[in-house]
Amino acid sequence: MRIGHGYDLHRLEPPPPIGQGKPFVLGGIQIENKTGPVAHSDGDALLHAVTDAILGALGSPDIGQLFPDNDPKNESADSALFLHEAVRRMRAAEWEVGNIDCTVICEQPKIGPHRTKIAANIARLVDCPANLVNVKGKTHEKVDAVGEGRAIEVHVCALLKPRTST
Ligand code: MG
Repeated sequence: MRIGHGYDLHRLEPPPPIGQGKPFVLGGIQIENKTGPVAHSDGDALLHAVTDAILGALGSPDIGQLFPDNDPKNESADSALFLHEAVRRMRAAEWEVGNIDCTVICEQPKIGPHRTKIAANIARLVDCPANLVNVKGKTHEKVDAVGEGRAIEVHVCALLKPRTST
């Protein structure tokens, strides 16, 4: 077995012209929200953390090394592309997902109503059964930048096991 941890944080701002927030997307699911991530890519903190958890388990270079945020190619990129590369590396090394557990920390939007859809989409992207992906939402109790709604933070643990499926 291999275990990997992924972490990401993005600043949240209102959309232009007030701020630089992009549309709020989490786990590949667009969610209506007053603020969105400030990012070079689409700013999907959850997909970034899942990508880094898998890459970490593989002992691969991390997402920032594979997809530098100063590369114009990654401008507003769909973060599913980053995850796709991690999954390609995982399969090439003969591993598959054991399970993935995600904790999303933000004040808004509430994650609860979207967690099933988000988990199902991550499972689709990493090509595993939906019951192997878990997504939890928490707040930061109104303190610090995350609690004041100025950022979103995500932690992910991914367990990989030797591949048995084809
Ligand atoms: Mg990121």
